[in-house]
Amino acid sequence: MLEAPVVDDLHYPFPPKPLPLTDAQKAETKARIKRLLQEKDAVLVAHYYTDPEIQALAEETGGCVADSLEMARFGNDHPAKTLVVAGVRFMGETAKTLTPEKTVLMPNLDATCSLDLGCPADQFAEFCDAHPDHTVVVYANTSAAVKARADWVVTSSIALEIVEHLDSEGHQIIWGPDRHLGGYIAKQTGAEMLMWQGACVVHDEFKAKALFELKAANPNAAVLVHPESPESVVAIADAVGSTSQLIKASQEMDNDTFIVATDKGIFYKMEQLSPEKTFIEAPTGGNGATCRSCAHCPWMAMNGLDAIAKSLENSDKSEHEVHVDPALAEKAMIPLNRMLDFAATLKAVVKGNA
Ligand code: SF4
Repeated sequence: MLEAPVVDDLHYPFPPKPLPLTDAQKAETKARIKRLLQEKDAVLVAHYYTDPEIQALAEETGGCVADSLEMARFGNDHPAKTLVVAGVRFMGETAKTLTPEKTVLMPNLDATCSLDLGCPADQFAEFCDAHPDHTVVVYANTSAAVKARADWVVTSSIALEIVEHLDSEGHQIIWGPDRHLGGYIAKQTGAEMLMWQGACVVHDEFKAKALFELKAANPNAAVLVHPESPESVVAIADAVGSTSQLIKASQEMDNDTFIVATDKGIFYKMEQLSPEKTFIEAPTGGNGATCRSCAHCPWMAMNGLDAIAKSLENSDKSEHEVHVDPALAEKAMIPLNRMLDFAATLKAVVKGNA
């Protein structure tokens, strides 16, 4: 039996951060982006993990700030002919797959994701082929090629329901690529799953011991944890969920303080919706240790103002445009549609992923 490759020790080279702009440069670049969005009949859609000024600009210009599926849905429904996706590569691909007739631009096509990097389509296909009797369920944070090999695509907010449904029908399941999210779902549903061994470089770094100490020092704070975090961190959580679910929890829970174990870009939306509450970053380094991502995705950080302006200025060139092979997109749509149909049946609101 072929086991999933172990990627625990794989370290991905992080991209350089965009050069910081002066206040004057920021103002000039924002004005340029606003003009270009109008001229190019384009709309800016940003993920919750992008920098606060990018999320603010998306809102200010009539775009949206959301999780990846909602970004794609918004882009699909919006009348603009061009979508500028401030996020990571698989989000641009999902937008293009769902809206092939539109031009989809990204500030930087090299903005990727450790889950995507850690799940090469050919190796994943080989793993699946070695277990032909298994139903393949993949997380939205994957390339179009991996989605095309899957039976189901899931986001973190509907993964539990879908796996529970498949398990109740007696399916044997392959899960990929995030091992922590897979472990969380397996524990919640009781389903046995063959697991790909990927991880998110941001959530994998949260430290249970330091989090436990921080919670002890803030006894009134609630701990919000994304399930891409290690099991020991999830065990301390007062609420576990996707980005959208954590934002909702921060609004609905009575606590005035929250310790948040997910990318700190999410603080923009949490603070906007609950300005009277205090949000604290969950610890990533532990005592004396260092962090690599430090609670902010290095690829999300590539979506700087300058890169957004350049993607619009060079929209007629290929260096910013997302292309998905139509045959691949057609295959990827099958498991995506299964999820959307399942959600519609449940009358569930499918939101949230990384
Ligand atoms: S935060 Fe993690 S899951 Fe999200 S894009 Fe970055 S590396 Fe991928």
